[in-house]
Amino acid sequence: MMKYIVGNWKMYPTAYDDALLLVKGVRPIAAKAVTAGVQPIVCPPMPFLAGVTKQKRVSANDKAFEVGAQNCASAHDGAMTGEASPAQLKSMGINYVILGHSERRAVDGFAKESDEVIATKVVAAIAEKLTVILCVGERERDASGEYFKEISEQLAASLDGFPVAKSGQLIIAYEPVWAIGSKATGVATPEDFREVEMLLRRELAAHLGKVRAFKIPILYGGSVSKENAQSFLNIGADGLLIGRTSLDTNAFVSIIKGAMQHK
Ligand code: PGA
Repeated sequence: MMKYIVGNWKMYPTAYDDALLLVKGVRPIAAKAVTAGVQPIVCPPMPFLAGVTKQKRVSANDKAFEVGAQNCASAHDGAMTGEASPAQLKSMGINYVILGHSERRAVDGFAKESDEVIATKVVAAIAEKLTVILCVGERERDASGEYFKEISEQLAASLDGFPVAKSGQLIIAYEPVWAIGSKATGVATPEDFREVEMLLRRELAAHLGKVRAFKIPILYGGSVSKENAQSFLNIGADGLLIGRTSLDTNAFVSIIKGAMQHK
């Protein structure tokens, strides 16, 4: 299975020129990575998507990094001031979109997206032939295993209405909320990932069938660094969703190179 190394830049960098520098740092390794079975994907903030996407191909035959959006609207078009539709993204050469990120889900956050909203966005994005990187993850871990239920319910609700035949356009990112970002309260281990990966496969099988479920890439995300990236790939992660470290070109490229050693 192809491995996906995804950089979620969040609302960084502040300046467009710095975004171009970041992507130009990733471009040289991209062709070699794809040949080695690793797909680098960069997900810049909305205003920089067009410029970054222009950097995708230097020549017509180039295998390249892919570009993802960090969000999209739930409709094809409409009177929706400030929104960006999946059809618009697709028309720019963007093939991926992150949906359901915990920062957008957070009940005390800036977007407060519910599972229902996320499910509608997933369906809209799939209809435009985008591949959805759907994030799921528990807020905290408890000794009694309540988090299994939280993750299962989140996955089921976020996939409500999902067209089963389009499972080839689905990537899942397991991102335990407590292990994400500079406010992380803990460090997730490869074993933590493995345990939830098994749960997710089972749940995906229940929704989409066993054969489809086993073809869906499941990535790990949450404080991935160049020091710990390999350990998640070693235990079977199909890729990584990387926040802060993706803003450090050298570290991001070194993670891509590491993934290229895994076949
Ligand atoms: P982090 O973010 O790597 O900075 O923890 C990951 C994410 O939010 O996707």
